[in-house]
Parts: sequence; structure tokens; C-alpha cells
Amino acid sequence: MAGNRQPEVNIGLVGHVDHGKTTLVQALSGSWTDQHSEEMKRGISIRLGYADATFRHCSGVDEPECYTVEEECPDGSESEPLRTVSFVDAPGHETLMATMLSGASLMDGAVLVISASEPVPQPQTEEHLMALDIIGIDNIVIAQNKVDLVDSDTARQNYEEIQEFVEGTVAEDAPVVPISAGQEVNIDLLIQAIEAEIPTPDRDPDTDPRMHVARSFDINKPGTSAADLTGGVLGGSLIRGELGVDDEIEIRPGREIEEGGKSEYVPIETTVRSLQAGGESVETVTPGGLLGVGTGLDPSLTKGDALAGRIAGPPGSLPPTWDSFTMDVDLLERVVGLDGGEAVEEISTGEPLMMTVGTATTVGAVTSAREGECEVNLKRPVAAEPGAKIAINRRIGARWRLIGLGTLQG
Ligand code: GDP
Ligand code: MG
Repeated sequence: MAGNRQPEVNIGLVGHVDHGKTTLVQALSGSWTDQHSEEMKRGISIRLGYADATFRHCSGVDEPECYTVEEECPDGSESEPLRTVSFVDAPGHETLMATMLSGASLMDGAVLVISASEPVPQPQTEEHLMALDIIGIDNIVIAQNKVDLVDSDTARQNYEEIQEFVEGTVAEDAPVVPISAGQEVNIDLLIQAIEAEIPTPDRDPDTDPRMHVARSFDINKPGTSAADLTGGVLGGSLIRGELGVDDEIEIRPGREIEEGGKSEYVPIETTVRSLQAGGESVETVTPGGLLGVGTGLDPSLTKGDALAGRIAGPPGSLPPTWDSFTMDVDLLERVVGLDGGEAVEEISTGEPLMMTVGTATTVGAVTSAREGECEVNLKRPVAAEPGAKIAINRRIGARWRLIGLGTLQG
């Protein structure tokens, strides 16, 4: 094979647990095999749930059958690569919306997987769609999965339930493609829809690079001697610009230092020592797909996701760090993902909120609430641009529930 191609777009796979997201990723990854299963790359993929797929085209074949992930066409000729995409798969049985929301900040579009064999919507189907709405991801394809399990009347009725459910939402005009991920039926139609609905965004290569750090880790085996230690690794996605080996980067908010009983966050600076993208070691990377950055940092700083939620870029280019902020607030009418859908009450002074800003999740206490805006004091600071979108969650029962959208005031 002609080597792996770097993915150029991130596509989220969202939807209720067991509706077939992971099975679909497998069907779309096709015969794509990882020829560079180095420890770092494997580690990041597993932790982030990314999988790359190259969509291909067979010339001389009608639509949609011409779309495939196989390298060989039905007539034995070789298929032509169209583009490589990176799927961000929400981890199985993940009930915490925070994970989905922080992943959403890296998505250029999404495939919403809905099972044809259950009533619509199931709780996370609704919650995930609302999250896409809030984050503003409007390039959506709906995969009506498991059609092999139902008769055609049930499939049609389920299709109508889906149409009714998405009415008035960001997915209103999204195509609904009936598929069986398990039996690999209509995968060609789904690829055709993704190619049409989720284009690769225009990117400006000359802008300063900026990375959203979703995970961070220490890849050294326990007991490695100090001289043999590999520096700390950051996993995430580049959202703009181009990053290269030997580039200097700053990481914000950085790390926590305690001084005189007071804790403070100081930015960290380091050098990019290695880059992994699309399953290969590379010299430079551009946005799209999973990125692993080997740094000169002491691996104890990156261990166990210690730097998750940070942003990285050239020193001096990053947005400010906020210990507290004021945000405009747009509340949902009712709490999603709950039976009965109770009404969302106004935010009140003193209440705790969980907020997702980029890939960062932070808890804060409301210090002042007025209609349409509130001020929060954060437990852990975040680095963000004024105008950044904030997913606001409130604790209801045993869980944090999405209640609205915030916009960071500058
Ligand atoms: P996820 O939680 O959304 O990632 O769902 P999984 O991909 O893990 O799938 C949940 C279960 O549904 C597994 O047992 C799959 O084998 C099964 N499944 C997924 N897709 C299909 C399908 O198209 N048809 C059938 N019959 N089963 C499927
Ligand atoms: Mg899964």
C-alpha cells in the first residue's frame, strides 16, 4: 500500500450507547491496517477513540456503488483515494457528557447513529444532538443503523420518528441513510452522504498553529532509567495552522504550582520533539485527525491526562487564561436526556456549574447571575478566546445535565 494518508477532517460519531458507533467505525475503516503500530500511536488512538478511514472511488462504476473503503474495485482494478477522514468515537458506555462535549470541540462534522430497532429518541440520542446544536456543528449525517433487525414497515416508521425528532434542530436537513453497520449494508451510500455533507473546512496554513490537548500521558515503562526516559506526550488535534518538529510551544493554562498555601497556574514552554499523525512519524502536521506530540517535558507533568484541556501554540500566541469569567447565557427550554424533560430554571448565584470550553472541562461557582448572563469563579482556570462557546451543565440528580450555551465575554 502506498503509505497512510494524513486525515484532513474530524468526524464525530455520536448517539445512544449500543446503537452501533464502534461497529460503524470498524465497517468504515475497511481494510485500512495500521502499519506503524508504535506504542505512542496505539496509546493515543485507544485513549482518544480515533480511527482513520480513507474513502475511495471506483471509476466507471455508478453512484453510490463507486464509493468504498476497499482498495480493490469489483472489477479487480485499484480504487482511487478521495480523502482520509478521522472518526472521533465516543467511548463505549460513556455517560459523562463532558467527554462528548470536549470531543465535540474537535469535530468538523458528525454522524449521528440511531438504531432502527428502538423508539426515537433514546436519551443520549437527544442529548448528543443538543450538544451538536450548542457547539454549532451543523454538518451532520444521520445513520439509521441496524435496519437488518427490522421489517420494512418498522424501518419506515422509525425513519418518520427520526424526521420528526430532528425537526427544528441543527440536523433538520441532514440526510438519513439506512444502513447496517453489522452487515456492512449501504456503507457506500453513507460515504456518499458524508462526502456531500461534511466537506473539509478551508484552512489557513499561515496562521499560528493551535492545538487542543484532549489527553496527555507518559509512555515510559515503569522503571525506565532517567537517561532513557521519553519526554511527555500530548494527544489531541490541531485546529489551525501548521506545527513542526523543533517548534517551540507554550501550553496554557500550564501547570499548577503551590506557593504559600495559594495555588497558581503558570504556562509551560517546551519544544516539539516528534510528531505522529495518520499513523506515521511526520515532520509537520496540519489540522485533521489525531495528533501525538512528543515534547521535551518531564513525563511526570503529562502523566494521567494531567494536561488534558490545555491549548498549545507558539509562545505569546495563545488566548488569555481565565480564573473567573462572565458569559452570556442562553438556556435550553427543558433538560434533555431526562424522561419528562423538566423545564430549565434560571441560573442562581452560588450554584455550581460544570462548563466545557474547547477540550477543557471545569467546575465553577456562580458569583453573580443576571438575566442572560452570569459570572463564575473557576476551580481550575481555562485558556480561551473571548467569544468562545461554553457548554453549561447543571447537576441534576446524580448527573451533570446540559442546560445551555454560554459565550465568553471579553
Ligand atoms: P456503540 O455503543 O454505539 O459503540 O455500539 P456498538 O458498535 O458497540 O454496537 C452495539 C451492539 O450492536 C453490538 O453487539 C453490535 O454487534 C450490534 N450492532 C451494531 N451494528 C449493528 C447492525 O447493523 N445490525 C445488528 N444486527 N447489530 C448491530
Ligand atoms: Mg462504542
